[in-house]
Amino acid sequence: MKNTSSTDGKSRSAARAAAAKERPVPAVSRSPAPARLKFWGVRGSIPTPGPTTVRYGGNTSCVEVRADGQIIILDAGTGVRLLGRQLVAEFDTRPLDLTLLLTHTHWDHIQGLPFFLPAYQPQNHLRILGYEGARHGLEVVLAGQMESPFFPIGLREVPANVRIEELKEMSFNVGPVRVQARFANHPSKCVGYRLFTSDGSIAFFPDNELDQRDAGANRKMIDFLRGADVLIMDTQFDTEEYQQHTGWGHGCLDDVVALALEAKVKKLFLFHHDPNHDDAKISQMQAHARKLVAARKGKLQVEAAREGVTVEIGK
Ligand SMILES: [Zn+2]
Ligand SMILES: [Zn+2]
Repeated sequence: MKNTSSTDGKSRSAARAAAAKERPVPAVSRSPAPARLKFWGVRGSIPTPGPTTVRYGGNTSCVEVRADGQIIILDAGTGVRLLGRQLVAEFDTRPLDLTLLLTHTHWDHIQGLPFFLPAYQPQNHLRILGYEGARHGLEVVLAGQMESPFFPIGLREVPANVRIEELKEMSFNVGPVRVQARFANHPSKCVGYRLFTSDGSIAFFPDNELDQRDAGANRKMIDFLRGADVLIMDTQFDTEEYQQHTGWGHGCLDDVVALALEAKVKKLFLFHHDPNHDDAKISQMQAHARKLVAARKGKLQVEAAREGVTVEIGK
């Protein structure tokens, strides 16, 4: 990848001013680099820093996808802060053209946005797409968490060009990447996405409860996920915990494994780890899921999603 920025301070600021005026080009060239994703936040509900969560990580929902010249961010939980720092370090003054796809506006999926560094650089363009919140428009909800007295800088005041679009269609494109959305079974409006890249597809359902009593809904979900290379899905509860949390809108591990097997998914990532689950518990759930697959003689690979891990798509 070519670095067009100068090391000279003066010309750098001139370049920055010029870059702010010109239309941004996609930050990633259409290189033959394979599509990949990186986990920046894998926790559900609330960040959980501390010694018992260092292996899997304590930041909330955020996954970066780089594919076909696009940088697509899935959710802006607290993990997006670290992604922002990485993008600024990597691209310096080159303008970034980023797309953020939000599944919904629960705090654990938007709380990192005020701390997303590229939003504070005038040369960057950030397009935020999502479906409306429960009662208010998406823009009102996102700006609301940055209003005084919650935050010192308003969303409409940040220097980057931020465009918030409320989606109505369930199928759209981000550059050459086709995106399909589907409503999840979760309180208020929440969707999951499937991204079709030239190297394979990624499905993302960070918050979802599979309703075992509704065979029709399960069948539709299986159809939606069929043959996905990667499925990242809410597996917040084990079977015992799920009995106490039925109807809360979060996934039961055994049900999700069964669904992924049925849909012939290649790789399943356990996601939205419960804030009360320490590293040992998450490793246990991963082992349990692998046993379920082995018992069914399935080919499905299962991993518990871990902060900082990169996955190449189609491998
Ligand atoms: Zn959540
Ligand atoms: Zn939620």
